[in-house]
Amino acid sequence: MSRKYLYYFTEGSEAFHGDMTAMKNTLGGKGAGLAEMTAAGMPVPQGFTITTDACTQYYTDGRQINEAIQKDIFEHMKGLEKITGKTFGDINNPLLVSVRSGARQSMPGMMDTILNLGLNDESVEGLAKKTNNPRFAYDSYRRFVQMFADVVMGVSKSLFEDEIDKMKAEKGVKNDIDLSAEDLKKLVVIFKKIYEDNEKKPFPQDPKEQLIEAVKAVFRSWDNPRANVYRKMNEIPYEWGTAVNVQQMAFGNSGDNSGTGVAFTRNPATGEKKLFGEYLINAQGEDVVSGVRTPSPISHLQDQMPAVYKEFTEIATKLENHFKDMQDMEFTIEDGHLFMLQTRNGKRTANAALKVACDLVDEGMIDEEEAVLRVEPHQLDALLHPQFDPEALKKAEVVGKGLAASPGAACGKVVFSAEDAKAWAGRGEKVVLVRLETSPEDIEGMQSAEGILTVRGGMTSHAAVVARGMGTCCVSGCGDITVNYDKKEFTLAGKTYKEGDYISIDGSTGNIYGEAIPTVPASISGDFGRYMGWADKVRRLKVYTNADTPRDAKQASDFGAEGIGLCRTEHMFFEGSRIKAMREMIVAETVEDRKKALAKILPYQQGDFEGLFETMGERPVTIRFLDPPLHEFLPTKEADIKDLADDLNITVQKLKEVIASLHEFNPMMGHRGCRLTVTYPEIAEMQTTAVINAAINVTKKTGKKIVPQIMIPLVGEVKELKYVKDFVVKTADELIKKAGIDMKYEVGTMIEIPRAALTAGKIAKEADFFCYGTNDLTQMTFGFSRDDAGKFLDSYYETKIYESDPFVHLDPDGVGRLVKLSATEGKAANPALHLGICGEHGGDPSSVEFCHNVGLDYVSCSPFRVPIARLAAAQAAVKEKRAKAKK
Ligand code: PEP
Ligand code: MG
Repeated sequence: MSRKYLYYFTEGSEAFHGDMTAMKNTLGGKGAGLAEMTAAGMPVPQGFTITTDACTQYYTDGRQINEAIQKDIFEHMKGLEKITGKTFGDINNPLLVSVRSGARQSMPGMMDTILNLGLNDESVEGLAKKTNNPRFAYDSYRRFVQMFADVVMGVSKSLFEDEIDKMKAEKGVKNDIDLSAEDLKKLVVIFKKIYEDNEKKPFPQDPKEQLIEAVKAVFRSWDNPRANVYRKMNEIPYEWGTAVNVQQMAFGNSGDNSGTGVAFTRNPATGEKKLFGEYLINAQGEDVVSGVRTPSPISHLQDQMPAVYKEFTEIATKLENHFKDMQDMEFTIEDGHLFMLQTRNGKRTANAALKVACDLVDEGMIDEEEAVLRVEPHQLDALLHPQFDPEALKKAEVVGKGLAASPGAACGKVVFSAEDAKAWAGRGEKVVLVRLETSPEDIEGMQSAEGILTVRGGMTSHAAVVARGMGTCCVSGCGDITVNYDKKEFTLAGKTYKEGDYISIDGSTGNIYGEAIPTVPASISGDFGRYMGWADKVRRLKVYTNADTPRDAKQASDFGAEGIGLCRTEHMFFEGSRIKAMREMIVAETVEDRKKALAKILPYQQGDFEGLFETMGERPVTIRFLDPPLHEFLPTKEADIKDLADDLNITVQKLKEVIASLHEFNPMMGHRGCRLTVTYPEIAEMQTTAVINAAINVTKKTGKKIVPQIMIPLVGEVKELKYVKDFVVKTADELIKKAGIDMKYEVGTMIEIPRAALTAGKIAKEADFFCYGTNDLTQMTFGFSRDDAGKFLDSYYETKIYESDPFVHLDPDGVGRLVKLSATEGKAANPALHLGICGEHGGDPSSVEFCHNVGLDYVSCSPFRVPIARLAAAQAAVKEKRAKAKK
């Protein structure tokens, strides 16, 4: 049977048995809503939906609508003529339609719409006569020419808007509605001329041609730059395509007894259960959104048109009850008659989402499990960080944009070095640290700053990862900024900002503002805790955190972390006196010297681990042994080199030679991870001593049963793991024996090298747990450098080779396959093996769902993503349960 590409609104509900998901997949959200409203007998101007499959077909056919589908479209127009009693292209009683996009998931404002299609030089006269309203007829025609030119042909809107402004000035009027029929008639002539000048052909008079071109334009708009950006942001697959709705026009611009508006069944900002919206009299849809006139609040409609208002509120309630969610509706009033143009689940703020979900449960509309699916996990983020005062933000001007690297709102004085950030913050100043990029040495300054703004670096750059870990707002990779460290200033969008000038940055949008915007603390309402309780009830995955300090651990714990899945021990050495001891260890040339330096490091580490164990109690704490290439810790500044040389009692020249000898061409694949301990087992011995002694001390002090988890990074071969593990076990067993207590510990490994994944069955025999380091696993599976991929990945998105950053969303086909295979083979070889993930993907909702589906035991993520992961894990569990129930 050939595929059905078109559905009348009257057909949809029955054809899909009211299954909204199936309906949305084929008819798009708008088409599905129109079909459902039609089936419920609501006043919907009739029409038909051209399916998302037709859109896919359009792209398959080389951006053409094939003949069969064109024929089908015209046949459906004939059908619509019968329903409406009007004729498409008729001079006296023309059927006019709107042509509107509608994807599976709503993408507000991203794609295109054309209204009043079907008008031409002759039918506009007919319409004027038939309605006895020439003003309305010419207003409709000028709108149509303008929209068609803009959407179909790409003629700039402003050319038309300038002409309207000119006309208004000539007539001495303020609003479009004050222009007369004659004025509008003149505008039509001018508009058609603009069209012809730009397109070198006259404005098309054949409605059939208009229709096909408009449908093509809507399909095409699926691929416009803003739609592509929106899809990437919202993880909407390109292959979905958009549907197109062709619908008889209802005219809100036919006089003072007409109008158009949008309304939500509840307040989308707060969730309050009260109709919320606005409308304009004598207007068409785009006037409400474009802001050319100020709309009235929906409550005024009660006085202005009480019967219409009553009918609308009844429909709104019915729709909400039907869809069991807050609805966002578009309506038009034509000569006192109400028409519904759209209904969809309304977009809402995080606070509103939580309130609506809780209220719907209390109202008995949905159950707790359904409620768990109703809030986007990412949205919770907004509740966890300080936010800009919304009123002040509205007035502020965006002066630049970078990557939204770590969410939150920061406002402070510009400083250019980590030292200054620390010093200024010490004086009680709020600062934003502006750097070309950050390095481990900047950590204290980063911690002192309200926010971090960098010129270079992607989402997994040092600045981004560290800032997310700390919950500090960060905008990274704003290449438009020119920094002059010497003059302590930077330039952006033609303006220079000096040290001490105020700027504000929004780590949730990447926006940069050249002024101070006040922030307000995040408000976590009572609904939040209640809601998370429901999520925790259904999830199977445990949620741990990546934390290197007791402060981070405490924060994560407050957000519900059930353990630490990754403590990066190298992060404990960024601070002043510690980095010195570390540097001594690195440049040591004999085992003896190295052991001496390690002895200095030991107490720092042990103290830190004690802090972590005390904070987490009996919850698992996973300590990952030293991982990065050592030269990352070496000084780069001349003064620091001199300092270290003096400390070590060697010449600057000698130290420089050592530093040079440590240089690697590809440090990410160099002497790092367990390779360091294969060369220098004393590092593993020191770290084991620190972990085990810390655990012994805390056990003795608190009486709690601490079971430390020691994690060996970058393993690629079972013998390599065994070699390092033997040092760990020997050291640990001796210490425990000496302490005379009964203490268990585990030794596991990260799986972050493809070879480890492929030989997981062997590795599992030597490991108590696997934790997937998907940052490195992604890097090594794709062969993309974690630090540099951002520089070229944009071309991959533009060409649709990849749709999203594999460092952000776990790649299910490649990296994911390695995870699945190694999890299965690891478990088969060692059934007691537990499995987790601690790469950045551990806090990404779609990746969390993947982890649930392949049977991992836990995900571990930065503290501020813990609630997001908890919710994502719960959603994965509910989805799985429902899929099973369906079978
Ligand atoms: C990883 O590689 O995913 C990981 C967690 O380790 P790191 O980011 O420290 O290399
Ligand atoms: Mg790693």
